[in-house]
Amino acid sequence: MTKPEDITIRTIDLRGQKLTRAELLEAMPRATMGVGEATELVKPILEDVKARGAAALRDFAEKFDHVRPKNLRVPREAMQKALDNLDPKVRAAIEESVRRCRKVSESQVPQDFHTDLAPGARVAERWIPVQRVGLYVPGGKAVYPSSVIMNTVPAQAAGVESLAIATPPSKTDPDGLPAQSILATCAILGVDEVYAVGGAQAIAMFAFGAKGSEPQDGEILCEPVDKITGPGNIFVATAKHLVAGSVGIDAEAGPTEIAILADSTADPRFVAADLIGQAEHDELAGSVLITDSQELADAVRAELQARVPRTEHAERIQKSLSGSQSGIIMTDGLDQSIDVANAYAAEHLEIQTADPDSTIARIHNAGAIFRGPFSPVPLGDYMSGSNHVLPTGGTARYASGLGVHTFMKPVEVIEYDENGLKELAARINDFAVQEDLPGHGECVLTRFVRDPYDKATL
Ligand code: NAD
Repeated sequence: MTKPEDITIRTIDLRGQKLTRAELLEAMPRATMGVGEATELVKPILEDVKARGAAALRDFAEKFDHVRPKNLRVPREAMQKALDNLDPKVRAAIEESVRRCRKVSESQVPQDFHTDLAPGARVAERWIPVQRVGLYVPGGKAVYPSSVIMNTVPAQAAGVESLAIATPPSKTDPDGLPAQSILATCAILGVDEVYAVGGAQAIAMFAFGAKGSEPQDGEILCEPVDKITGPGNIFVATAKHLVAGSVGIDAEAGPTEIAILADSTADPRFVAADLIGQAEHDELAGSVLITDSQELADAVRAELQARVPRTEHAERIQKSLSGSQSGIIMTDGLDQSIDVANAYAAEHLEIQTADPDSTIARIHNAGAIFRGPFSPVPLGDYMSGSNHVLPTGGTARYASGLGVHTFMKPVEVIEYDENGLKELAARINDFAVQEDLPGHGECVLTRFVRDPYDKATL
């Protein structure tokens, strides 16, 4: 039983300190186990799946998920059955979430365009969908049908031809099928390539493909993909990091985190509830309050002690709040709070200040920004229409969350005609000669002069 006095969260007091950029980054609360530390655990998993395919996938399921799936590829009938048995209230919630996410995703589809530089000289930009993607849906400590939606809907809006989902098998299912709500959501979205494979082994399967399916060995179980997206725990995030390069990945969406930038006008009940909500995901989840108000910090601490013992996953939450990745950061004022928020680069950043718009205008780094007291993170987790697959661990300094753009590539098409090229021929040749690549110039000149190699005739 978790007791109020067990609920601790450390204070990081930055008041009165003038920190350099490096010192500020160093002061941010982060998990002690990051991608670097998990690499040694994950590498052998990737190698084994690459070498042994389906046999390794089954062995890892047994080891980590405590079940040996009967079918690694989920039969279509199992998904339809899950949908038929889905609680109508849950189905309505899923459908509302899909509707809103689809509306936002469709409005994100980028338009092709072109620029005319001169007569006969045009550069066009075409947005082309990635051909085949592997979408990871976590399912260890909690099950995430919402992540099926957040991965699949933007991929569909982008026009991806081939998409596959992997999610852990469930040890409570006699056949080792994934969670029923996940299968039902796949059925709602019309996804029929679904694998009961979780963790780093799923990322390996997507990156390298896997042979050795049921019923006969040697058959292809899963073809490799071009890009892998989706959130997951530290093993999933590390595996994505390791395969990146041979296959595309979205941002590293690892153990989740929230930062709440709040001033004395914030309601401590809302702040405490939102810190707890995020801590519920994972012992490694980070919950961070950034404030210049001692009164708010004290009230939030009291609220945490009152609330955590009363919520279902109290033990996990207590571990997450007391971990090195969580804390209350005390600042001198709003300016320093904003500097801290930009240095921390939260996956989810809630703004609960007197003037949220002027605060938001100064935020450079966040996966997603939740404005004001009535835009809490769980709204975005499930139903705001925004995407919940977001960059973690400070990667929001350079990465963004999942969206239609994740599943598309801009490709320039160069469209010059004879006149357009002729106008530039001499200049291109001058450039090429200067770079000691005369063959480049000759490519162009050959189209307009009889002997491009005889410089005297040019
Ligand atoms: P998960 O599906 O990510 O991981 C479960 C898998 O981890 C298992 O199938 C197993 O194969 C593997 N695993 C477990 N222990 C292992 C070990 N010791 N060694 C190697 N592999 C091991 O599900 P989860 O664990 O519930 O984690 C979900 C995570 O996703 C949470 O951290 C949550 O915060 C995060 N999440 C993030 C976002 C985001 O956008 N950033 C969104 C939703 C969820």
